[in-house]
Amino acid sequence: MNTINAEDLVKEKHVVKVGNLAIGGRDLVVIAGPCAIESYDQLLQTATSIKRSGANILRGGAYKPRTSPYSFRGKGEEGLRILKEVKELTGLPVITEVMDARQIENIAEVADMLQIGSRNMQNFTLLTEVGKLKLPVLLKRGLAATIEEWLFAAEYILSEGNDKVVLCERGIRTFETYTRNTLDVVAIPAVKELSGLPVILDPSHGTGKRTLVSPAAMAGIAAGADGLIIEVHPNPEEALSDGPQSLDLEQFEQFMNRLDRVAETFGRSL
Ligand code: PEP
Ligand code: MN
Repeated sequence: MNTINAEDLVKEKHVVKVGNLAIGGRDLVVIAGPCAIESYDQLLQTATSIKRSGANILRGGAYKPRTSPYSFRGKGEEGLRILKEVKELTGLPVITEVMDARQIENIAEVADMLQIGSRNMQNFTLLTEVGKLKLPVLLKRGLAATIEEWLFAAEYILSEGNDKVVLCERGIRTFETYTRNTLDVVAIPAVKELSGLPVILDPSHGTGKRTLVSPAAMAGIAAGADGLIIEVHPNPEEALSDGPQSLDLEQFEQFMNRLDRVAETFGRSL
């Protein structure tokens, strides 16, 4: 029997504050930075440049969920220390992924927003734990999750008392293999019909290919996304994770110029 009841979903429009920023208002919020924090220089160089280009929040993973345990899995606590220093130097708010409830305490000391990754979208104990915090949470759509499953995962956080939830469409697994995932752009207006939560788009994981990031992002803005999360690396060829989908610093600057014009067309501002 299907026990899902769409009437249980939050309908009231939510605008989620991250520092001085508001996600879900007229202004688009752009989160940018490397997939993984690799070094102090890498993160500082990226942060300084994306800030100049107009990004609002710095991303960078210290704990990385990787398909193979032999791949680079992030710098852990050292990564968090680097993130803290770069945050203080640049003044940018920061987001980083929490993979396990045991990491929450350390991460919450530095992060302005927590990221729950696709692979953990239905980790109900983790959702319950972040639901007890006051920190904003970015909840990515699961690799093979329906829109309903995603929205009910968000309810796990809301039902514990944390109403600062932002959804992130990042593509789903389909028979298509040319792109890393199949970006479900229509999920953005669909979620907005069903729920009051803000939605942002991740065209980096959604496509897996640098050349497709900009067109996918612009489609997302046209579809009503409240912001974007973009992977940026000073030298994508040498990146320890997700290089092929990362923009370099100059490409990101050009991307932001284009986004500015597209945003205006759709009644949004940067
Ligand atoms: C990421 O943002 O680097 C990431 C691992 O994303 P996802 O959970 O969407 O795969
Ligand atoms: Mn990544």
